This record gives sequence, C-alpha cells and structure tokens, in this order.
Amino acid sequence: MIKRPFFGLIQARLKYPALIPDQPVAIKDIDLSSKIVLLYENKTGQQNVSRLKAGDKVKTGQRLELFENTSDYIISTATGEVKEISKHTGYFGRNYISITIARNPEDQWDENFKTAGQAGNYEDVIKFLGALPGEAGLSTLLSLNPAEHPPINKIVIKGIDNDLLVANNQTILRTQLDDLKNGIDILSEIMHTTDIIFVVPPALKTQLSELGVTVKTVKPKYPNHFPHMIMKNVLREIVPAGKSPGDSKTGFINAEAVAALGMAFRDREIPIYKILTVIKKDSSVVMVRARVGTPVKDILDTLGIELNHGDRLVLGGPMTGHAVYSEDLPVMYDTDAIMVQGKKQIILSTDTQCINCGECIRACPAKVPVNMLVRVLENGLYDDAADEYGLFSCIECGLCAYVCSARIPVLHFIMLGKHEYALLKNAEESNA
Ligand code: SF4
Ligand code: SF4
Repeated sequence: MIKRPFFGLIQARLKYPALIPDQPVAIKDIDLSSKIVLLYENKTGQQNVSRLKAGDKVKTGQRLELFENTSDYIISTATGEVKEISKHTGYFGRNYISITIARNPEDQWDENFKTAGQAGNYEDVIKFLGALPGEAGLSTLLSLNPAEHPPINKIVIKGIDNDLLVANNQTILRTQLDDLKNGIDILSEIMHTTDIIFVVPPALKTQLSELGVTVKTVKPKYPNHFPHMIMKNVLREIVPAGKSPGDSKTGFINAEAVAALGMAFRDREIPIYKILTVIKKDSSVVMVRARVGTPVKDILDTLGIELNHGDRLVLGGPMTGHAVYSEDLPVMYDTDAIMVQGKKQIILSTDTQCINCGECIRACPAKVPVNMLVRVLENGLYDDAADEYGLFSCIECGLCAYVCSARIPVLHFIMLGKHEYALLKNAEESNA
C-alpha cells in the first residue's frame, strides 16, 4: 500500500502546465528496444492463452487473438518472435497477460488492417482499434453494437491534460493538427454524429479554429480535466453518483487518440508510438515518443536517469499516478507519464490518524464527506461507504490526499475501497 501521495514535486497552486505558445515542442525519440512487452488486461479471467504461444512469429500491427471463444486480442507493436507468455498482477490485483516479443531490427507490417480499410467497412476496421495511443479502451466508444454499449450521441475531445505536469494532449495540439482534423472526420463518420466538442485550456483555443468543431475552454486548474468536471462545468450536466458520462450518451476521448485515429487512416497502419511526459527528479519535464511495449528502463537509460536505492518510480502524474516496483514494466497505450522521485523527496509515511481538520471536505469537488468515508473504509464497511458516504461520487482526483493534514493516502484508500466493493459484489452474485 502506498502510504503517501507524490506531492513533493508540485507547487501548492494546482495549475496545469502550459507549453509556451510559439515555441517548437521538443520530443525526444526513444531508441527501439531489443524486446517489447505487451500487457493485456485479462478482464474475463481466462486461464490459458490458447491462440498464441512462445515461438510464434508475429508482425507489427498484427492482431493477436488470445483465447478460444472470446474476442480478446492485442496488437503486436513489433515484428519478431514471441519469447514468453506469462501472467502479471498489476495495481490493485488486476490480472494481465504479459507477452514478451524478441524484436527483429526491421518491421514487417501485417496487411490486414490496410485491407480492411481499403474495403471501406468500418466494422472490420474497428476490430483493430480496441486501443490507440492515448486510450487503452476504445471498444466501448467505437462500438457499433448498441446492444453491447449504449449509443454515444456527443463526443468530447480532451485537449487538456490528465494530470499536473503532464503535457501529452497539449503536445499533440501543438504538433499534429492535421492528424487531429483527419481523426475528427473519421470519428464523426464512425459514430454518426457531428456533435463533437473540443475542450482546451484558453491558451490553446486559437490553434483549433481550423478544425471545424465546437471549441470550449476550461480553466487550466486541477481537476478540471476529469470527464465529470467537464460535464458539469462545460456541458452543464451533473453525472449522478455511480454513473458515467456514457450513461448520458456522451463519450470522452483524448486528443492523442484522435490524432492516432487520423494517422491510422492516413498511413493505413495502426499507430504504435505513445507520447509520454517524463518528470525527472529535479521536476524538469521531457516529452518523449516511445513504442508501446518499450520497457520503462530503456526510457530512463536514454534520458540518463538513474534509479538509486530508495528512489521511487511512478507511472502517471503526481496526483493520480501509482508507484511501481519494476523498471521492466512497459509503456502501455494509456501510460501518460513516468515520474522519478529521489529518495530525499519522499516523505516517509506514518500511521497518523485523521485529526478531523476538514481540509479534505473543503477541497473535494464532488462534495464527498471524505473523513467519514476513510473511517468506514478502514473498517471494511464497503456497503456503508457506497450507500451513505459517497464512495462512487468520488472522481479519484486526489485533492483530498493533497490537502490532508495527517498525510493519509486518502485517494488510495478510496480506490482500494472501490476495488474491494466490486470484489464483494462479484462474490455475492456468484454465490446467488
Ligand atoms: S479523490 Fe478525494 S477530493 Fe477527489 S473526488 Fe475523491 S474524495 Fe473528493
Ligand atoms: S484532511 Fe485528512 S486529517 Fe483532515 S479530516 Fe480529512 S482525512 Fe482527516
């Protein structure tokens, strides 16, 4: 359990960083690794990967089906040989299938995506687009089957970034306007809607005038990027506790994924490179471009960042990221940031009790009675937490932990509470 949030790096003023307009954005390309590791979240709990095995040869962009009788698949981001397939347990016990591919120096592209695109049938094309750089789970948004997911009438493209110090979406806006335009057109065709809203910080609004969509601005203050906050502040719609914007037929997608969609149709190849923000020990930020599946270690080595005993490696930004124990973990489709904290920046935790100062309640944008919620979660009263103390009103912004006088890792308590609640309900359903 993480006992302390990662706030050592940031100022108390919770403003998103803005890249300086009119200055070129420098993106450092990460050299290709000799191996690629693909992580697939195994939500269906299948036990054996029966349709892929060690020794299989794969091509870049190939759709690798995993199990019999399910549609689970992952796209290979390299050409080479499958060396190992294993199970990996991630944050909060999430199950992943880990596929290690020894990479050939040259890419050989699988042609099936191109063929599907030439046939002009979106249903076949979408079978390759379960994930794109910037979005790990696109199937729900792009689903053409209303029986599986409620239809989406309105699409919100996020040009604001997903954490403090992270600048991925801003970088896309500054460097890939043509891809964005193309991606918006395709999104509109696939989803049969022209109701598309681009949400950006005011400083980036003028760049979007040629995109032909409605552009709305949102103050660059944390946590304004969360879909629930955009629904409230921009669309003037409150999402009830436990519901998602999708229940209001509104879908959210990051600008990075929209640009990737545009590139996919332009190049007839599935995009396999992810933009990431690397936050160094001295708080300086480097934008990098790395192939999905690149081990984090390779990125740190390229940037000359050393991890010493006692340092902390975080996947994600300072407010919502989580510490990881291995540099061998790969970049995934939704890895927005890598943050490294030096040993001296980490304030060691104590098991301090809540002192009822009320700071968390004042900070919470969802009006959750956080101090009470933490108490019931500590006592394992998950039903009470959900029914009476707003567990599912929480949007996981982490502001409560940021302001907590007792330095309780409140956000992680809450995330763990939601996870335990889901396990409890699954067990109850199975028993029934
Ligand atoms: S993380 Fe904390 S501050 Fe943010 S919504 Fe949840 S309870 Fe409120
Ligand atoms: S900010 Fe921390 S110490 Fe204060 S009431 Fe909230 S949980 Fe308790």
